[in-house]
Amino acid sequence: MRQGDPCDPLLRQVLPTHHESLQQPGFVADPLDERAARRAPGLLEKYARRALLMPTGACAIHCRYCFRRHRPVDAALDRQARAAALARLADDETVDEVILSGGDPLMLDDGQLAELIGELEGLKQLSRLRLHTRLPVVLPSRVTQGLCTLLESTRFTVVVVLHVNHAHEIDRSVVAALDDLRRAGALLLNQSVFLAGVNDDVTALAALSQALVASGVIPYYLHMLDPVEGASHFATSTACALSVVERLRARLPGYLVPRLVREDPGAQHKTALA
Ligand SMILES: *Cc1c(COP(=O)(O)O)cnc(C)c1O
Ligand code: SF4
Repeated sequence: MRQGDPCDPLLRQVLPTHHESLQQPGFVADPLDERAARRAPGLLEKYARRALLMPTGACAIHCRYCFRRHRPVDAALDRQARAAALARLADDETVDEVILSGGDPLMLDDGQLAELIGELEGLKQLSRLRLHTRLPVVLPSRVTQGLCTLLESTRFTVVVVLHVNHAHEIDRSVVAALDDLRRAGALLLNQSVFLAGVNDDVTALAALSQALVASGVIPYYLHMLDPVEGASHFATSTACALSVVERLRARLPGYLVPRLVREDPGAQHKTALA
């Protein structure tokens, strides 16, 4: 963050402002209707062939636009709840990928993570393990040697989906952490949210894609904001996002242009917009 700049794009992502108390029609507590996809505590099955396991509700930072911002933050799964979630997962032969989400799964320590991955490895139908995490970016020291060894030694194909919205989030320590993850054999992808006042212009997004690929990360998704209560000041129009992505295409190789997507409640996959 640039000190003394109230409009800094990194500060804006985490600073609560009075705009959050504005009531806007259509902005609700659970915009993706995730309650309907809950199969066991901490287990969501909303996407075809993929299951979302949320071992903890905690994150290292609280992004003000997060669509899960109204979730209970202290909802770490205890042993019993985890066993119930895994039993349910074991019953579903169609699921071949488990996505650890949250919260942020890297809020677990290496020992807890090793235990969880070990249990998941026992489910024969699973072939891929995905981690959705912001920690390598907001706390690069979390990428320990122990974590890398764990990811290197699992039988799973490992995909790490980061969440970076602005090139300024990637400093030297982040580059080093991403390098370690890549050396451990993880495929690195990034998802961003298209956020008013943070990255809703072609220059910011082009710089982000370039900073990502320089660290071995492919820009994967650019999400439209989910209409969560308290985040309406981050909203942009689809027309604006489409026009920015069109201009990105004119500047960058195709693999550096993220897919612009929207998530519709109840849908089994994202809706591609561009
Ligand atoms: C889209 C999404 C997924 C599933 O990702 P795919 O890459 O489309 O399989 C999982 N978790 C969250 C929070 C998502 O937004
Ligand atoms: S790190 Fe992810 S889950 Fe946590 S608050 Fe930010 S967007 Fe939400």
